[in-house]
Amino acid sequence: MAINLDAYNEVLSRLKPYHARLVAVSKTKPAEDIAAFYAAGQRIFGENYVQELTEKQALLPADIEWHFIGHLQSNKVKFIAPFVHTIHAVDSLKLLQEINKQAAKQQRIIYCLLQVHIAAEETKFGMDEQELQQLLQAYQADPSAFSQVRIAGMMGMATNTTNETQIRKEFHQLQQLFGSVKTTYFNNETYFKELSIGMSADYQLALQEGSTLVRIGSLLFGERNYSQM
Ligand SMILES: *Cc1c(COP(=O)(O)O)cnc(C)c1O
Repeated sequence: MAINLDAYNEVLSRLKPYHARLVAVSKTKPAEDIAAFYAAGQRIFGENYVQELTEKQALLPADIEWHFIGHLQSNKVKFIAPFVHTIHAVDSLKLLQEINKQAAKQQRIIYCLLQVHIAAEETKFGMDEQELQQLLQAYQADPSAFSQVRIAGMMGMATNTTNETQIRKEFHQLQQLFGSVKTTYFNNETYFKELSIGMSADYQLALQEGSTLVRIGSLLFGERNYSQM
C-alpha cells in the first residue's frame, strides 16, 4: 500500500488556517486505500468514473461523503443518484436537469458545482462564461424546476503548467466569477459557498486564491497507474 499518511496530515494542517476541506481523490485506487484514510478520519472522497464509484461505494462505510469530480454523462446520473453527495463538474443545463430528476426519484438533495473552463488547454471540460450565464438564467427563471439540487458553488481546473503566475491568474479569475455569481444569483443562499480549485500540484496556490474544497489524489494515494485498471 502506497498511501501517504504524513502527506495527509501535512495537507490537513495547510488547509486549516483557510477553513478549507479536503476531497481525497481515490480514482483507480483500491477500496483498502480508501478504508485506510477513513480510519485516519477522512470522510470526503472523490471519484471520476461511475462504475468504479458504485463498486467502491458498496464496499465502504455508508457515512462516506462521495463527491463525483469527473465528467458526467447525463445517462449515468441514475447510477450515482442514490448516494452521491456532491457533483463537481456540472457543465450543462441538461445535466443539471437530469441530476434534479434522478434526485427527485430518490427523494434526495444533490449538491452541484458548476464547472467553468479556466485553463488555456482546449481539452479540459467546463462551461465558458456565456454558457454559465445561460444556465444560471434558466435556473433563476424557474427555481422550482430545480428543487432537488443545490447549486453550491463552482469548480475549475487550472492549466497543467509549472508557470505559477498563470495558475494563480486562472484561479483568481474563477474566484472573481464566483463572487459575482454569488452576488447576482445566490445572494441570500448560504449553500452557495464552495470554490473547488486545487489539486496535488497547485493546491497551495488555490488556497491563497480562495479555495474551499481542494481535490487531492496522487499526493495522498501515490501515482496512478491506469494500465492496472
Ligand atoms: C484526478 C483529479 C484530481 C486529483 O489530481 P491529483 O493531481 O492526483 O491530485 C483532481 N480533480 C480532478 C477533476 C481529477 O480528475
